[in-house]
Amino acid sequence: MKKTLFDKIWDAHVVDSIEKGPQVLYIDKHLIHEVTSPQAFNELKERGIPIFRPDQIVATADHNTPTIDQHLPVKDALSRNQLEQLSKNCKENGITLYELGHQYNGIVHVMAPELGITQPGMTMVCGDSHTSTHGAFGTIAFGIGTSQVAQVFASQCLLLKKPKSLRVTVNGTLKKGVLPKDVILYIISQIGTNAGTGYFCEYAGEVFENMSMEGRMTVCNMSIEMGARGGMIAPDETTFEYIKGRKFAPQGEDFDKKVAEWKTLPTDEGAIFDKEYTFDAADIAPMVTYGTNPGMGIKITENIPEQESVSFQKSLEYMDFKAGESLINKPINYVFIGSCTNSRIEDFRVAANFIKGKQKAANVTAWLVPGSKQVEAQIVEEGLKDIFENAGFQLRQPGCSACLAMNDDKIPKGEYCVSTSNRNFEGRQGQGARTILASPLVAAATAVEGKIIDITKHLN
Ligand code: SF4
Repeated sequence: MKKTLFDKIWDAHVVDSIEKGPQVLYIDKHLIHEVTSPQAFNELKERGIPIFRPDQIVATADHNTPTIDQHLPVKDALSRNQLEQLSKNCKENGITLYELGHQYNGIVHVMAPELGITQPGMTMVCGDSHTSTHGAFGTIAFGIGTSQVAQVFASQCLLLKKPKSLRVTVNGTLKKGVLPKDVILYIISQIGTNAGTGYFCEYAGEVFENMSMEGRMTVCNMSIEMGARGGMIAPDETTFEYIKGRKFAPQGEDFDKKVAEWKTLPTDEGAIFDKEYTFDAADIAPMVTYGTNPGMGIKITENIPEQESVSFQKSLEYMDFKAGESLINKPINYVFIGSCTNSRIEDFRVAANFIKGKQKAANVTAWLVPGSKQVEAQIVEEGLKDIFENAGFQLRQPGCSACLAMNDDKIPKGEYCVSTSNRNFEGRQGQGARTILASPLVAAATAVEGKIIDITKHLN
């Protein structure tokens, strides 16, 4: 029987099945952070259940961490308590923790792939929706709730119903200035935020085959925004090359054996998907969102569409936009380049390449927040820090930052922020904040110009 990439990995991890019911799935790697793990640790403690496989868990601190003066004690009491609790829980249970300040600390979906923890063919979970990021490696990776975190702690397994399969194929060549973020914003704008509900999505076609691992992570990261349980891309030479030599990657002969195994994972020719969408790369352009869900996106040169629904009207009201208007020349006071969607070295290279030799607009507050300590170090090593600082930008320390504004990095009420993060929900970046999702290139250009510009005219 022809199998999809998803089927091959799923079926290899089924421990038990209930006839016509859910299945018990073995989980290879469990990632945890300070926000969604404390209740699960408490539950196990109260019930006297030990953590089953602490060696398969990796912890980091990211959601609540400050992005300046990380060497000082954390001022905010709630954040400080959560970080201390995480350290205590990890110590008591023998779990590896890359805490604040550690050279491997960072956003969970940035640091795990860069350490080689994420590998093809695995099942991975984390108490965070954007765990789908790891699917870029040909991995079944998805976010879980707190009670499921406890379930995995206790058994290294999850009771799950197998999702249906969806494939999104994009063939052709992307135009200049069109980045992976534009690809995924375009897909979601076309199929909507519910198209993936109940499905696990595979991205296929030339566009993804030619994409870097950083770009694939950006795409898979936002699978959840079209309602899918997760997204994945078949592992190939680009994947193997990225993993090779990383800290937790298999080494020497073991690596070669693994590669041989990983090469068997791609979807069999002729395998059937429950649902398919196909797009042409030539139709994709730099994108921006104008509303309060990631599906409300347009090409940067398009005007906001007209729609009658109450939710659409409410969304435009929140954003203070009008149907039919263009976002080009909209003055913007905040720019955020960061989050697990776009805080990898490639994202900062794109931004630096545009910014080099220019100056940040005086009206703009621009936060550049690397996804990990390793990305931060690479920014310095490659001389990008100098480019940013000479242009008047401030490079901050790693963390989730203004993606969800759990720390001090909040966008003030009523202000617009062109953001490389993944969610533009009401209040996501601070109470009353107005988020416009875009690529790092569009964000960098906005910071320089102080307004949204048609980036396609500025690329030469
Ligand atoms: S950067 Fe944002 S989306 Fe990513 S893990 Fe942190 S809070 Fe979640």
